[in-house]
Amino acid sequence: MHTRFPLTRDVALVRVAEFTPLAGRAYASRRNHDGGPDGRATTSLLSPAIRRRLISEQEVAAAAIAAHGFVVAEKFVQEICWRTYWVGWLQQRPDIWTRWQADVVRMEALLAEDGKWQRRYEQALAGTTGIDCFDAWVHELIETGWLHNHVRMSFASIWCFTLRLPWQLGAAFFYRHLLDACPASNTLGWRWVVGLQTAGKTYLARADLIRDLSGGRFAVNFKLASEAPPWPADDVPPATPVARVQRADPAARTGLFVTTEDTSLEQLALPGKIVALAATPDIGGTPAPLKHQAAMAMLADGLGRAAHRLGLEPERIDATFGTDAMRDWAARHRLTQIITGDAPVGPVKDRLDVLAPALAADGVTLVRLRRAWDDVAWPHARKGFFPFKAAIPKLLALPPGALA
Ligand SMILES: Cc1cc2nc3c(=O)[nH]c(=O)nc-3n(C[C@H](O)[C@H](O)[C@H](O)COP(=O)(O)OP(=O)(O)OC[C@H]3O[C@@H](n4cnc5c(N)ncnc54)[C@H](O)[C@@H]3O)c2cc1C
Repeated sequence: MHTRFPLTRDVALVRVAEFTPLAGRAYASRRNHDGGPDGRATTSLLSPAIRRRLISEQEVAAAAIAAHGFVVAEKFVQEICWRTYWVGWLQQRPDIWTRWQADVVRMEALLAEDGKWQRRYEQALAGTTGIDCFDAWVHELIETGWLHNHVRMSFASIWCFTLRLPWQLGAAFFYRHLLDACPASNTLGWRWVVGLQTAGKTYLARADLIRDLSGGRFAVNFKLASEAPPWPADDVPPATPVARVQRADPAARTGLFVTTEDTSLEQLALPGKIVALAATPDIGGTPAPLKHQAAMAMLADGLGRAAHRLGLEPERIDATFGTDAMRDWAARHRLTQIITGDAPVGPVKDRLDVLAPALAADGVTLVRLRRAWDDVAWPHARKGFFPFKAAIPKLLALPPGALA
């Protein structure tokens, strides 16, 4: 399945090697063009792999710089860092994620009360709006689990300003289907389109640009909105400091717990005494089948690599890694420490937050290993991307696979 998107680390490494020659001038000049699902890709298609850390931002950026030098690879490296920036920004304002989830529930309930709105929403989800590009993108998203970045911008703009549907429900549709669905990049990408991230600056989709960047695949005869009024500003909470991570105790009897948030834990400097290995298939929400299958393929690959490195038989913890199941796993192996990858704001973090005190009551410490890349980057994501960019040289100088 999904031959277009690497779902194992080996395939992701091959993709990096194949794409790297294009990550310099070709990327800078052609990256906004989209040939569609059957066309030649102008971007790396690595986002599902990076999202679940089959491969790290650091590895992909380093390959591009080694091939082209920083100046020529800068555009590509900056795009990689956009994701880091969004994740760091949301990490310091988790309320934005919680609020979006509550908005979706509230708005889905409201739909039933407004027939006209409901009809537009159903047409949008079914790809029957009559807007040729939009309808084709809906089918592409459902059938492949991915859309090009410029398409995502145009899609979100048409959803909000031409179809006059709330951004929150569009973000929910993306989140359900995208193989790379990321609480930060998705929620904040939609907020950016409606002017909530850069105050008052919205993105207006243009028919001529869509025609041009799609190589003429779409006629776009439908009259798109000519204005993109900003969504009413919401109060953005002040940035709260990023919580510090705990260090692992190298002498503790330890279990390694793999989640879908970081499927390459075996690449990190793990502490000594690991005696048990388990994974959870939980990815939160109600994912579309393709998204779910892709996440499971990446998890299986990550678990297999960890089992090979540690020489341990992997176990599966139930789908929602409930407290009882984790306590039982820890007790069976007499663990005093469980280490896992640090999960940024999102469903896995929510579960780990509940789990940590329950395990602590049993004398088991839950340690979340944070990559140095995140630890150095996140505190710089307090304001806009421009000041964040100043931290990029620091990130690029980190040793590969370093921990905080
Ligand atoms: C409304 C909207 C929603 C989005 N939702 C997501 C999402 O849920 N998950 C996600 O990973 N990206 C999201 N993006 C960003 C972007 O569209 C994808 O990361 C990109 O299309 C992935 O394609 P690629 O791997 O070929 O990227 P490339 O151009 O090859 O870039 C390499 C990597 O850099 C990162 N990247 C590139 N562009 C961006 C960007 N604009 N913002 C953030 N990271 C970027 C990705 O990790 C990507 O794999 C969203 C953008 C918008 C406008």
